[in-house]
Amino acid sequence: MSKRFMALALCIGLASSAVAQTPSDPDDALKEDIVTAYKILVNEGILDSFGHVTARSNKDPNIFLMPQAMPPALVTKADILEVRVSDSQPIDPKGRRVNGERYIHGEIYKARPDVKSVIHSHSMGVIPLSLTPIKLKPVVAQAGFLPLESPTFEIRDAREPGGRGMQITDSKRGAALAKTLGPNPVALMRGHGETVVGKSIKQAVVFAVYIDINAKMQTQALYLSKNVKTMNTPELFTEDEFDINRPWEHFRQKTLDPAAKAAIDRSQFGLTQTQEKR
Ligand SMILES: [Zn+2]
Repeated sequence: MSKRFMALALCIGLASSAVAQTPSDPDDALKEDIVTAYKILVNEGILDSFGHVTARSNKDPNIFLMPQAMPPALVTKADILEVRVSDSQPIDPKGRRVNGERYIHGEIYKARPDVKSVIHSHSMGVIPLSLTPIKLKPVVAQAGFLPLESPTFEIRDAREPGGRGMQITDSKRGAALAKTLGPNPVALMRGHGETVVGKSIKQAVVFAVYIDINAKMQTQALYLSKNVKTMNTPELFTEDEFDINRPWEHFRQKTLDPAAKAAIDRSQFGLTQTQEKR
């Protein structure tokens, strides 16, 4: 083989291997987590027909990922669109309809650089508290990530003169909600639901589930007595005290069928025992 031919072959070989090793989409795992988040939140009864989950892009912090307007139970990776943080407009929807309340997400990502995921839901556990002067407070140990008191958003304070409706359908309303949220993990929305944020999709999902549980427990305790003992500062979690991975995996497993559960490699969770085959 001549030197020239070898050099040419080497070049072709390098070129083809470069094509074969095209780097994968840095948002691919994020999209997988968004789909899992929808499955978990539908299964746990947190998302009704209209809620939504988004994540800030790994490729560009000025973009967030959001499924097209659709029933949450049907969301797949192919449904996820890229939306600009600056004005909450989709970059290339390819004719697909975007969610009308996307401004919730865009304005929170704009106001909170630390937020990597936003969940908006109409959770039935939370709504009753949003209708009263009683604030959502941490009452169960697993909700120790909550502040001593969570804010409630009042749409009447944000609605433009002559404006109608309860929903966050423009940037101005979204910015007002982000202001009410402040540095907190959740803002209740009077008669509507709540918006939960996290430093990851996993964290936002686990927070959303436990906020719903906490709200239900607080409301049930209020049936028994007005004198409900809520958690105090030494009882709240410190930053790293709550293991998000365990509840995420627990909630995820509940969405799997028995065969998929049986196929799980338990060693990835540091569990040395294998499941018995029947
Ligand atoms: Zn809504």
